[in-house]
Amino acid sequence: MDNRTLLIALDIVLLSCALFSLVIGRRGGDRGWAWRAASLSNFGGFLLISFQPSLPAWASVVAANALIVAGTYAQVAAAARLGGYAEAKHRVAIPILLALFLGSFLYFTYVRFDTAARVVVVSSFIAAISGGGAVVLLSGPPRPRAGHRPPGIELAALFLCTALFFASRIVVTVVDDRSMVSLLDRDTYTSASFVFTLLQNLVFFMGMATASLRAMNDKLRAEKERLQYLFSFLRDTAGQLDLDALYLRIGDILTKTLNIDSGGIYLLDEGGESITLVHPINYLDIDTSSVLRLRRGEGVIWQAIERDEVVEVDMRDYPDSPIRDLMSSKGVRYIASAPIRSSDGVIGGISALFTAGRGRAEADKDLFYYLGEQIGLVLHNALKYGEVSAMAHTDALTGLYTRRRFYEILGAEARRNGRSSSPFCLAMADLDYFKRVNDTAGHECGDRLLRTAAEVFLRECRNTDYVCRWGGEEFMFLLVDADLGKATIVAERVRAAFERASRGCGCGDEGPRTVSIGVTQSEAGVPIEALVKRADDLLYEAKRSGRNRVVARAFRD
Ligand code: GH3
Ligand code: MG
Ligand code: MG
Repeated sequence: MDNRTLLIALDIVLLSCALFSLVIGRRGGDRGWAWRAASLSNFGGFLLISFQPSLPAWASVVAANALIVAGTYAQVAAAARLGGYAEAKHRVAIPILLALFLGSFLYFTYVRFDTAARVVVVSSFIAAISGGGAVVLLSGPPRPRAGHRPPGIELAALFLCTALFFASRIVVTVVDDRSMVSLLDRDTYTSASFVFTLLQNLVFFMGMATASLRAMNDKLRAEKERLQYLFSFLRDTAGQLDLDALYLRIGDILTKTLNIDSGGIYLLDEGGESITLVHPINYLDIDTSSVLRLRRGEGVIWQAIERDEVVEVDMRDYPDSPIRDLMSSKGVRYIASAPIRSSDGVIGGISALFTAGRGRAEADKDLFYYLGEQIGLVLHNALKYGEVSAMAHTDALTGLYTRRRFYEILGAEARRNGRSSSPFCLAMADLDYFKRVNDTAGHECGDRLLRTAAEVFLRECRNTDYVCRWGGEEFMFLLVDADLGKATIVAERVRAAFERASRGCGCGDEGPRTVSIGVTQSEAGVPIEALVKRADDLLYEAKRSGRNRVVARAFRD
């Protein structure tokens, strides 16, 4: 095969590479330009050489060389992006080597080319630095991480091919000492050089193809990981009714899927004119006191809530305000907010803070909105559950604890009491002749008197005590850390206060209403039910002995 046939064969290979790169380059994202530039300029350079156009000889040589050099550099640039160049140990050596390569190539080709010996010098030099480049890249990253391949395979292979290509030129020059007027002079281009140029290009394309596949694979793996987080979030939170545990899980999913550096969950307040920070996700240790409550219109989050979409703001575009100063002082450069939607509409918003000022990808924006919806669903359930259980725990008419809730509290207190030595007391109160109020002044009036009783009872006992509506017009007090003496004083105060307060409550004109109270003290080993029964018995003793009085006695008296 003569040189011309080989050149045409090479042109065909390079043309295929160029076409391939045009198709793949379009999908190559920010690497696409390097792919296309590399193969198109290589192809152009070899085309010029094979079909010496009707340009002056010097012009076609210069043009061909310029195209091939540009092509090689574009190859190196593209390979460097995917080849782990950024992780290489002595990566600063690579631009230096490349600059030396370009400088010496141009110098010895256009300024002082002359003899075969010079070509040998240039070629050995380039072969050495290309080989050196390969070694630098193969020396690996400073801190090898598990599961990470060594960087620079593609780039190192490219350098090795270049080194071999120039080594072959040394051999050619020494064997056939005709001077080489240019690197790619058709007359001196030998089979060995062809083979290595071919190899160089094929290595490049194979390297780019595998690197690009690997990059795609990494992206898919990251997507899969995010989906797994999402699935586990949905699975774990579907039945989660404990709000605190739920908030922690929400912070976790936001951190894992969106890589937020800080943020918070806000819920709309009653009336919908302000939002309150219910859960900060505060990795940046931001002082949240000034952002605990945001009135309508304040902050990015309100825009997200009002527009029902994800809103993103670069801190540089944020209006001058204390919030901006606060965020900037913690290095926040970028804020994104998403609404929290439930079946009732928007119920709040998520604020996400980033220290990197980057434009978020559309996919992240969609993901953020979707997260807002999912979070809305699980939060809605937990909040509704909270409301329902509050309803089950409080009496609708008086707002006092229900008997059921009171038993829970009493159980906890009895267990605590079993470990400590301080006693507690139970006081059972029953309004006197209450039926008459209903009968004479009406049921509504009776209700009012019950509410008055509840207010008085709450006011007259200590903050640490508990009052419940036992049923009808009966009430039960749990007086913690109180012996019978103290409890009697409280009960007496309650009785007297009710008598005073009932005068003004407008329930007919029959004078004051009164209450009878039975009080007893806890004793180690006595079950709760027995204590309750004892308080009830003492209450009826108070009724029997004339009403409007307190009867207090120890459990066994
Ligand atoms: P005593 O001094 O013996 O306790 O007499 P009393 O009339 O208070 O006792 P009784 O247990 O016979 O009557 C309790 C009344 O409380 C009967 C019922 O109509 C009334 N009652 C129970 N629950 C409510 C309520 O939610 N609202 C109103 N208005 N009345 C209630
Ligand atoms: Mg009564
Ligand atoms: Mg009664």
